[in-house]
Amino acid sequence: MKLGIVGLPNVGKSTLFNAITQAGAESANYPFCTIEPNVGVVAVPDERLHKLKEIYNSEKIVPTAIEFCDIAGLVRGASKGEGLGNKFLSHIREVESIIHVVRCFEDPNVVHVDGSVDPLRDVETINLELIFSDIEVLERRIQKTQKAAKADKSLLSELDLLNKIKETLEDNKCVRTMEFTDDEKAFVKQLNLLTSKPVIYATNVSEDDLANDGADNPMVEKVREFASSENAQVVVICAQIEAEIAELEEDEKKEFLSDLGLVESGLDKLIKASYSLLGLISFLTAGPKEIRAWTIKRGTKAPQAGGKIHSDIERGFIRAETIAYEDLVNVGTMNAAKEKGLVRLEGKDYEVKDGDVILFRFNV
Ligand code: GDP
Repeated sequence: MKLGIVGLPNVGKSTLFNAITQAGAESANYPFCTIEPNVGVVAVPDERLHKLKEIYNSEKIVPTAIEFCDIAGLVRGASKGEGLGNKFLSHIREVESIIHVVRCFEDPNVVHVDGSVDPLRDVETINLELIFSDIEVLERRIQKTQKAAKADKSLLSELDLLNKIKETLEDNKCVRTMEFTDDEKAFVKQLNLLTSKPVIYATNVSEDDLANDGADNPMVEKVREFASSENAQVVVICAQIEAEIAELEEDEKKEFLSDLGLVESGLDKLIKASYSLLGLISFLTAGPKEIRAWTIKRGTKAPQAGGKIHSDIERGFIRAETIAYEDLVNVGTMNAAKEKGLVRLEGKDYEVKDGDVILFRFNV
């Protein structure tokens, strides 16, 4: 899973991104991740892995990971090629969802590119650039489809839909505010429009506003209202505090957070919000060598889940020996679980659940 961090200059993106890379996971464990200077890989926190490590007496834990990509340089006029505009927009095209950092802290020492702190105006500025870029993509596509539709009338409904999306964009609304049928959804997905991507607005607040989850900061409330109008989520963070947390050891981190009246870090909140926004869950594999978590979309069937581990598992799938994490922890050992009949033999139509501990049987 790859998330792109965007926002105007001076809102706290680099501060957040540096915190992410510092908290970063060992990249050696994640060969699928692209290691570039603007990409940070973080482990998805999962308490269950530690418990399983005890049960299996395993050597190590390998959490699942997500990639954050720092997409700096987005400014007013980007879609017209201002700054390095179009290059940055193409980076956004590659990510699955967007973390849009919005400045909600006052600080006379930190200059705002537009002279004052106004999160809604900032959100609009960035969204407009993405909207302009999407309109360009649609105009090209509409032209092509119009030509093709002269010979193939079945394309007329596609053309209708393209025009409907373009009208929404021309109304300064993002594609993610639109409702689609399942068929339309599949079509829209392959258009890969920037404003159709799921968004989390990360409101960057001062340390004082953090404890009440931003409720004391009217700017955060405004962003919340706006986000709910476009099916987006809001996570309240303080980038500076994240930078401090990133330097601490795990137990120091807990103490530091509780001193601030917090349960989890902003980064952990962002990861969880992204997981739920994208409909993701984790299944687990366990053995004496390692306990490992794997990310899948909710609704993934057993063979395809196995395919995340190795394509051979998907190809030669026989069955998935499955136990719910809770069941395993309740009885304490795999043998006890088997005696109690808690280990299920699931076939190719089984939909994997969050927290399933699975051993795949397959032909090679
Ligand atoms: P970027 O241009 O969006 O990457 O912004 P930076 O991360 O470079 O931050 C711009 C300035 O704002 C830097 O001087 C940061 O130290 C400062 N800054 C970032 N986050 C916070 C914050 O939460 N509170 C305050 N007061 N300053 C911050």
